[in-house]
Amino acid sequence: MPKAVVNQDTCIGCGACVAVCPEQAISLDENSKARVDESKCTGCGTCVGVCPTGSITLE
Ligand code: SF4
Ligand code: SF4
Repeated sequence: MPKAVVNQDTCIGCGACVAVCPEQAISLDENSKARVDESKCTGCGTCVGVCPTGSITLE
């Protein structure tokens, strides 16, 4: 199953992915970067579509 992976170099910490993830699999870490809990991610791809910087891919 694919998992969402965040490019830490381009994530701006906007929180859009956190808000839309139906599994609550994404949180912002101490550096305001999105972090995916792979145990919760179902690979649905919803977060990929809302990221304004194209920082999320399914791998
Ligand atoms: S792919 Fe789906 S389940 Fe996984 S982090 Fe993104 S929105 Fe959440
Ligand atoms: S939507 Fe994109 S830029 Fe915004 S917090 Fe998530 S990964 Fe970072």
